[in-house]
Amino acid sequence: MAQNRVQYQKGLSMPEVFDRFGSVQQCEERVRAWRWPSGFVCPRCEQTGHSEFRRHDRLYFQCSSCRYQCSLVSGTIFESSKLPLPRWFLAMHLMTQAKNNVSALELKRHLGVSYPTAWLLKHKIMQVMVLREAQRQLTGRVEIDDAYLGGEVRGGKAGRGSPNKVPFVAAVQTTEDAKPVVMCLSQRPFTKESIQAFAEKSLAAPATLVSDGLGCFTAVHGTGILHEHHITSGGASSAKHPSFQAVNTALGNIKTSLSGTYHAFAFKKYGQRYLGQVQYLFNCRYRLRSILIRLARDAFQTAPRPIKTTRSAEAAC
Ligand SMILES: [Zn+2]
Repeated sequence: MAQNRVQYQKGLSMPEVFDRFGSVQQCEERVRAWRWPSGFVCPRCEQTGHSEFRRHDRLYFQCSSCRYQCSLVSGTIFESSKLPLPRWFLAMHLMTQAKNNVSALELKRHLGVSYPTAWLLKHKIMQVMVLREAQRQLTGRVEIDDAYLGGEVRGGKAGRGSPNKVPFVAAVQTTEDAKPVVMCLSQRPFTKESIQAFAEKSLAAPATLVSDGLGCFTAVHGTGILHEHHITSGGASSAKHPSFQAVNTALGNIKTSLSGTYHAFAFKKYGQRYLGQVQYLFNCRYRLRSILIRLARDAFQTAPRPIKTTRSAEAAC
């Protein structure tokens, strides 16, 4: 049987992660080189003269001109965290190498931190992934379909009316012979205005959108994107239609990935963040050896974004 190119590629092993990012000093050297490749520059006055000191095993810099003090995580998404840097690298490794999504509960166990800490670091890392993918545009042949996150919360209403059911569109750029290349997932209602906005943001001409007969997809007419729609009878026959094989496979994988990890969570509030993570991991699926470095470098260039959380709603994430 032919080996799956994605699943059998050489990833980054746990011993390699500990060899490269196992100590505070190793992580500090990496982050320092990313943040200040030509040496420290004061974020406040842009002078380079400085002194360095340690407090609670964390490296600090003090500007000789304006006396401003900062650490390697100051001004980054990790700014308010007290976790040692190797834990952040390990968290990013776990979140990028797993075949399915890693829950905050698993991160808590692997990292030896409290659940709220694990939840917060997971969401911060997901936020980096979302920002990284924010400008993603698809071109050429693009399959699109509508789908829902959630809606199976016990005790709630089933189907379309469920208050926790969140609509999103999945669009997959393919080769001419329908092999998936990259994808975009976007939480949005299935209205013409919304699909038109999606097309303007996430599709780049020349592109041909391949969809089923759902009315809202006709909204791409007038945006410079060609539209090829196939009338199906819906349900299982639609899922097997050869024109939608790439997007249907992607939707199947998303469902498996999320349902195996998350039993119930506030999709409405955090849906786009989870979709962004799935999109990021899919689009980086051939880069398992370099993905940790890429993600970490991006994370240390991402500005702080306080995440207001309602942890009680996240009991099973
Ligand atoms: Zn300064």
